[in-house]
Amino acid sequence: MQYYSTNGKAPKADLKKAVVKGLAEDKGLYMPERIEKLPKAFFDDIQGMRFQDIAFNVAANFFGEDVDMDGLSDLVFDTLSFDCPVVKVEENIYALELFHGPTLAFKDVGARFMARLLGYFTRNSRNNKKGQLINVLVATSGDTGSAVANGFLGVEGIHVYVLYPKGKVSKIQESQFTTLGQNITAIEVDGVFDDCQALVKAAFMDEELNKHMRLTSANSINVARFLPQAFYYFNAYARMKALGKSDELVMCVPSGNFGNICSALFGHEMGLPVKRFIAANNANDVFYQYLQTGKYEPKASIQTLANAMDVGDPSNFARILNLYSQNGKYSAEETHQRITSLISGATYSDEQIRETMRQCYKTTGYVLDPHGACGYRALKEGLQAGEVGVFCETAHPAKFKDTVDSILGTDIEIPERLAAFMKGEKQSVELPKDFQTFKAYLMKQVCKR
Ligand SMILES: *Cc1c(COP(=O)(O)O)cnc(C)c1O
Repeated sequence: MQYYSTNGKAPKADLKKAVVKGLAEDKGLYMPERIEKLPKAFFDDIQGMRFQDIAFNVAANFFGEDVDMDGLSDLVFDTLSFDCPVVKVEENIYALELFHGPTLAFKDVGARFMARLLGYFTRNSRNNKKGQLINVLVATSGDTGSAVANGFLGVEGIHVYVLYPKGKVSKIQESQFTTLGQNITAIEVDGVFDDCQALVKAAFMDEELNKHMRLTSANSINVARFLPQAFYYFNAYARMKALGKSDELVMCVPSGNFGNICSALFGHEMGLPVKRFIAANNANDVFYQYLQTGKYEPKASIQTLANAMDVGDPSNFARILNLYSQNGKYSAEETHQRITSLISGATYSDEQIRETMRQCYKTTGYVLDPHGACGYRALKEGLQAGEVGVFCETAHPAKFKDTVDSILGTDIEIPERLAAFMKGEKQSVELPKDFQTFKAYLMKQVCKR
């Protein structure tokens, strides 16, 4: 399969190049050239299939030409060593729990899949004679770093550098990427998240550094990170079909960079019978405003309780536009019309998030995290007669324990897996926020396998 750039000014890439490079030469995002419909027989039988088997069918549709079937099967089964159950919250509203992975975040699936795919390519690469390591640089405000670090842990031929702002991530989050060792290095930057991101961007631009080492990124612009998230939606459909509740299904996705909902929309293009989608946002409402006006006006992000969704210029918006304009075939107006006929939006303030968490806990006993709360509320307000809704619960509430406990008056239990990270010993490299020091540090690293 070939991948083209949303900016239309870069050469097409094969899967390996798209994954290793992340972003196209013209700074556009890679899109698969074709999206094939899955056969009717797959949907007829889906309710009896396991999550992993469903995922394998979906993966084969995208990656089957570039990865041999045994390799792909290993990749999918190894990635999905945990379940993503659908849980009834109340009549007609179900939570799709995406937080049962190693770091209790939904980003685990994409990060693990990408790590294994890169590992597959380095193992099977004939022209990797020099035995060069692939170095993944990732800037994090918390969640992405832990999912990426754990996803890549122990993968041969790859080293990960996680850059995070000193003193600005929670203890639980910090422990998830600073205690791992092996091929993971945590770099504690004396600055804020934006400084970390600036260092990563500068590193990708630096010619001398790129001669010294092979660098790549692992955020949701990478096709290997966002596409596998489509697995969730086929699985959710299967579970709802088994309950006899799949006829008028509405999927609601709490969104930040829009990678997750974008994968759901790709699923829809593959024939997933979902009636419509809702993108739930916190106070960062650029997408919501686009739906209302047809104008996309990025802004600086606002800090909220649902901080993994604090994005003012979602990177995957370019993919959604490209998908529904069919790479420029439809005008901006037609594209907007096509998008709004399938996707609606919602935006909630911190006060509304708190209110929703309390209301849901009181009436159903279900503990929402601040991100999931946006999704639940959007369904509660938006479902029409006859529809059944599924919203993504994107993080385990214990990851936001202080916030959740103070809002609900609870003392929620920290799962064993999370507690185990906190027992590990912190190892990190402390660096100032200037690029020259960071570069000098990387130039000293050994980059051969
Ligand atoms: C990353 C994240 C989101 C947003 O997902 P996108 O794919 O960026 O839209 C929502 N909730 C949680 C908990 C996250 O970590």
